[in-house]
Amino acid sequence: MAKKIQSQGKVDKMINNRCCSFCGTVADDQFITSSLNDVTICGECLDLFYHLLPLNGKDNFTKTFLKPLKQDITPKLIYDELNKYVIGQDYAKKTLAVAVYNHVKKTNSNEKFEKSNILMLGPTGVGKTLLAKTIAKILDVPITICDATVYTQAGYVGEDVENILLNLLQNADYDLPRAEHGIVFLDEIDKLARKGENPSITRDVSGEGVQNSLLKLIEGTVVNVPPKGGRKHPYQDFIKFDTTNVLFICSGAFEGIDQKEIKQVGFEKSAKKSKEIDTYDLQKYGIIPELLGRLPIIVKLNRLSIDDLEDILIKPKNSIIKEYQKLLKLSKIDVEFSKEAIHRVALEASINQLGARSLRKNIEKVMLDYMFNIDEYKGSKIIIDEDVIKKYIS
Ligand code: ADP
Repeated sequence: MAKKIQSQGKVDKMINNRCCSFCGTVADDQFITSSLNDVTICGECLDLFYHLLPLNGKDNFTKTFLKPLKQDITPKLIYDELNKYVIGQDYAKKTLAVAVYNHVKKTNSNEKFEKSNILMLGPTGVGKTLLAKTIAKILDVPITICDATVYTQAGYVGEDVENILLNLLQNADYDLPRAEHGIVFLDEIDKLARKGENPSITRDVSGEGVQNSLLKLIEGTVVNVPPKGGRKHPYQDFIKFDTTNVLFICSGAFEGIDQKEIKQVGFEKSAKKSKEIDTYDLQKYGIIPELLGRLPIIVKLNRLSIDDLEDILIKPKNSIIKEYQKLLKLSKIDVEFSKEAIHRVALEASINQLGARSLRKNIEKVMLDYMFNIDEYKGSKIIIDEDVIKKYIS
């Protein structure tokens, strides 16, 4: 009889030497075994079947399989899962793991709690969106990724904030209860900053007005969402969307906010420590206190080191190099990147200050000719060394 040791999101981990009854893979990691009819199913097959289910079947599946397992989730499990995809940012991963755990506990409880919405700060391309997407994957909930700058205060030209929820609903295949437990990732929140420190003379519809429109949404309320998006029409039927259990993650670069560095005293006289960012700094930056009050968890992400950038190329489950290797394997081609080549790509990325964003672009640039002439390489091995990288990236 298999022994259940822990749950990981939607799939239980079992210690057992068995095979998946559907694809025959030997059980080693994520499996569910039914003791009733002696059937074992691996995580991949479970995922596949889930996506083949009709919508109402999915709902039953969610209720029977996912809900109870989600309760067993722990911060450590969330952290371990984040580690599979996100390199570095250790402190952020731990803080998020605890915040997300608390969010799940609160939303599964009948007690009333303050929401644990999150504010993520950090330069571009360091993993803010990736963290949010990975959390959605771990919890198996829908996510919408929106740009805060496209929204305007109600009554002005631009999108209404209600459309954020409509996007979430679309991403949940119009399953309202699922959408109501989803994640809203609101990027570029720093661009909504009030332009001056004096609130009375700088009220502006583009920034502060939108911050105000977001307050109720983030706090938890029932919002009338127009079914097809766009502007509200007096005769249109609204969808009543309750945002109480939606996790809001706001994100922004907040450039210059931590420029003031604190000189440490004592033995490390020359060492500088990045300033801890608090709500006062954010308020000074132009985020209204009411909004900050609804985003109690502040997570700061760091710039990625060259080592981090190298790891991003090779370590995550779905790293760009692993992706190419898998793709070319289908055409019986092996691809190998030398250590020096990987270092060179990482170095280029660290120079242009776009974080990990340019890694993919540069690898794609390097691989373009090989992909174009794929027939010539069938059955052979492509070795990408530093010279090849230099040829394509300069
Ligand atoms: P941002 O911080 O601007 O939201 P993203 O999360 O969108 O950045 O990252 C941009 C790209 O770089 C994505 O393809 C992502 O996979 C990769 N990336 C960024 N940071 C990391 C990281 N810490 N670990 C792994 N991949 C990363």
